[in-house]
Amino acid sequence: MLASLAQEQSATEVIVPEHLPFAQRVAQSGKAQFLFAAEELSTLQINITKRCNLACKHCHVGAGPTRTENMSREILLSCLAVFEADSMATLDITGGAPELNPHYRWLIGEATKAVAKKTASKTIDKTISDKAADKTIDKTVSAKAVITKPVTTNSTKDTGHTDRNAASYTNTTTTTGHATAAATDHTTAAATDHTTATDHTTHGQTLQPKIITRTNLAILSEPGFDDLPKLWAQHNIEVVCSLPHWQARNTDRQRGEGVFEAALTGLKALNDVGYGKEGSGLIVNIVINPGGAFLPPAQASAQREYKQQLQQRYGLVFNDLLALTNNPVGRFRAFLDARGIRDDYMQRLYDAFNPATIWAVMCRTQLSVDVDGRLFDCDFNQVIDMPIRLSDRKEASSTPDRAVTIHDVERDGLESVTGRRLRVAGHCYACTAGAGSSCGGATTS
Ligand code: SF4
Ligand code: SF4
Repeated sequence: MLASLAQEQSATEVIVPEHLPFAQRVAQSGKAQFLFAAEELSTLQINITKRCNLACKHCHVGAGPTRTENMSREILLSCLAVFEADSMATLDITGGAPELNPHYRWLIGEATKAVAKKTASKTIDKTISDKAADKTIDKTVSAKAVITKPVTTNSTKDTGHTDRNAASYTNTTTTTGHATAAATDHTTAAATDHTTATDHTTHGQTLQPKIITRTNLAILSEPGFDDLPKLWAQHNIEVVCSLPHWQARNTDRQRGEGVFEAALTGLKALNDVGYGKEGSGLIVNIVINPGGAFLPPAQASAQREYKQQLQQRYGLVFNDLLALTNNPVGRFRAFLDARGIRDDYMQRLYDAFNPATIWAVMCRTQLSVDVDGRLFDCDFNQVIDMPIRLSDRKEASSTPDRAVTIHDVERDGLESVTGRRLRVAGHCYACTAGAGSSCGGATTS
């Protein structure tokens, strides 16, 4: 397997000849099991347009005002159908500037309905499982099965099902009830996730269904887009906005003259409808990425700095800061090549390889859909045209080697793409450098 992975990697060109191929380095660190997707996928990320009002120097997807590609409504409908699968919790809408897809507002409405349906069914599931737990307690109490020593769950190989721990639950929680049971269960599962080779990345957390929209903020100052903060608030959409730096010159250098001012106007509009305000329940997170060929700062300290600066200077607030590493594909790769520093950057990523981040690479739990409906492990793989293949299923060695589309998954079910071998290559070192990097920011502290 490693030989074919090495061949695959050499095809992507971002490798330095002396470097071990990514898959081999992962295998050498004893984590080869994480080169496969999980058995439960929780995020559907959809790149619904290549169009953007900006043309940032470091844009890995190469978006800009002259691009015309948009995801059609037919493909969006298939995405919504796949999002209905039980394990799916997050619909992550991105681009380009997703707001520029002509179906965007319709999509927000339909996705909100899908989330409401999922939330209702989760509530029913929880009620049923609570009732089952009640029965277990009743039985235990009536049988007077008094156990004086707390039972330690044997959880190092187990993950996350409430009924599995029924014995320890009933032994230790006759006075504390369901909340404790759930908390115990989830904590145990989360702790095991890092150390076992299993596919339970989504277990151990209560994943509430949600919709994320990504925005560059500046678009909110364009004619016809100022209604969006209110629309997002009405639908409780989580907003992830990019703001490379709290200083104008650093942001404008990367995104274009005047973008910083426009982005602050956008953030203010979000704050005005409640985003980022305590108690509002409306989440706005800020994504930062380095202005050059270096790693991002530590996420926690950068968050403190950004919160302080944006509050003091402009009276603006946000929830979390997500620090991303620039991936050496697309326009960022062209930036590196133009300066002759691609190998230096790759060396930096290679030297910073951190095995503790591998279990959390986002491709393990997500499907990424391009504007044409083709499926990828992530949108970096979209850029280098490395789609998911049916032959990458663990048990499907005889399956034809062809790309998979969202229509295939709608027809065959999400299980047709779970457990697949991930298509990794040299650019993956950006996801495992330092504290790790994913669409949700750093993956370790
Ligand atoms: S705002 Fe985002 S999508 Fe648009 S050009 Fe910049 S990085 Fe690319
Ligand atoms: S670049 Fe994509 S495939 Fe590679 S590790 Fe990162 S998320 Fe996974």
